[in-house]
Amino acid sequence: MTSIFSKIIAREIPATILYEDELVIAFKDINPIAPVHVLIVPKREIPTVNDALPEDEPALGRLFTVAAKLAAEMGIAESGYRLMVNCNKDGGQEVFHLHMHLLGGKRLGRMLAE
Ligand code: AMP
Repeated sequence: MTSIFSKIIAREIPATILYEDELVIAFKDINPIAPVHVLIVPKREIPTVNDALPEDEPALGRLFTVAAKLAAEMGIAESGYRLMVNCNKDGGQEVFHLHMHLLGGKRLGRMLAE
């Protein structure tokens, strides 16, 4: 199975790509819930956090350093932001290709909506 994010990586569907290297890609969320809403995605199609392997650690670590770099570039490093990774049904995961949300540009309020 090929995830929608793998299709973005393969340039089969369009996205506003902000960063790419050999391990990860970052692009704007298609349905933003904050003024800054970027998804940072390992290129290997890891379905959920539950499927992460020790060999994924370089890519998973890269998610954080790319998030910090993009937050600085987008002017929200000092004002602050939230990094979020959803897992499975109770976590609200909709796309089963592990990804980190970078959210900011406004006060995000409570940690949980419900
Ligand atoms: P999650 O609920 O953590 O699985 O989040 C999935 C995210 O992917 C949602 O915020 C969607 O808006 C976003 N999304 C789905 N399809 C696309 C797409 N084609 N391009 C960019 N973002 C997408």
